[in-house]
Amino acid sequence: MIDGLGRHVDYLRLSVIDRCNMRCQYCMAENPDFLPKDEVLSLEEMAQLARLFMGMGVRKIRLTGGEPLVRRDVMTLIETLGEDLAQGSLSELTMTTNGSRLAHFADRLAAAGMRRVNVSLDSLDSATFSRITRGGQLEQVLDGIAAAAGAGMAVKINSVVMPGTEIAHIDRLIAWCGRQGHDLTLIETMPLGQYSHLSHPAQSLDDVRRDLEQRWTLAATDYRSGGPARFVTVAETGRRLGFITPLSHTFCDSCNRLRLTCTGRLVLCLGHETGTDLRGPLRDGASPDELRAIIQAALNRKAAGHDFLTPALREAPQNHPMYQLGG
Ligand code: SAM
Repeated sequence: MIDGLGRHVDYLRLSVIDRCNMRCQYCMAENPDFLPKDEVLSLEEMAQLARLFMGMGVRKIRLTGGEPLVRRDVMTLIETLGEDLAQGSLSELTMTTNGSRLAHFADRLAAAGMRRVNVSLDSLDSATFSRITRGGQLEQVLDGIAAAAGAGMAVKINSVVMPGTEIAHIDRLIAWCGRQGHDLTLIETMPLGQYSHLSHPAQSLDDVRRDLEQRWTLAATDYRSGGPARFVTVAETGRRLGFITPLSHTFCDSCNRLRLTCTGRLVLCLGHETGTDLRGPLRDGASPDELRAIIQAALNRKAAGHDFLTPALREAPQNHPMYQLGG
């Protein structure tokens, strides 16, 4: 798929549910308004749309949420997409998860063909973890990560660097990832959830990186994950460390992704627009050709870059909070 600006798009982030069993401060309110169930696509509708996108050129699908592993029967969708992997119509199926239910699912995910998972983990201190996630249990997440690695999946850890994040927490994550054999990616807080008022990077990762360089040897690498992160190798651990910097350094020029919310809205840019409804046409019986035409028209309008830093977006109520968009 080629968008209106000539960018090659082959990656779909599919949010399977808005609900989550954690309440991360930077993502959602303490008592969020979750969507009525009939607004959320069924797993069959998700598989149908995913296959339509594959037919148009999507090669990689990442399941996200909310928390994908709290969706009832989510394995049926994963096993269906696993068949597409086996047949070669999909090259990669991955997931971003908070890890709390991974211990239960890891073997089945691996059996369905999943080779990699990203696990969000912002601190290895259980009290800090519980405060950030408003009640998450660190031990469950660590057990989940161990189970995923035990099932043969590569685990990448994602950590959001928030206003006030202590650098010692990041040092500890780097050292732990080194011992466990996981890569780590640091993410700048985007102006959403509790931080929707931010008008500049709350904590630019440039500053964090300079601080880390006092203690770690960060060697340049050409490695690219296919996403927005820019990586270095930590010489002391041999693991990669990535930086996702949507605010301090945008990476929209090479954006290769689409997002489908759990309500069936196709969102072309995380920080831009309200998206295009696919659920209505799908439920009204639109043909595959009609759906493809709607998708291509939306793709032609894909924005050149996000609007996180413009007053209009900052002042507008968020159309799609992160837990509906899936990050
Ligand atoms: N529940 C899963 C998880 O915790 O990974 C998947 C959904 S979560 C919305 C996906 C990603 O978005 C996570 O890595 C999370 O840290 C990130 N995220 C959520 N809100 C964010 C924000 N305001 N700024 C930066 N990243 C954010």
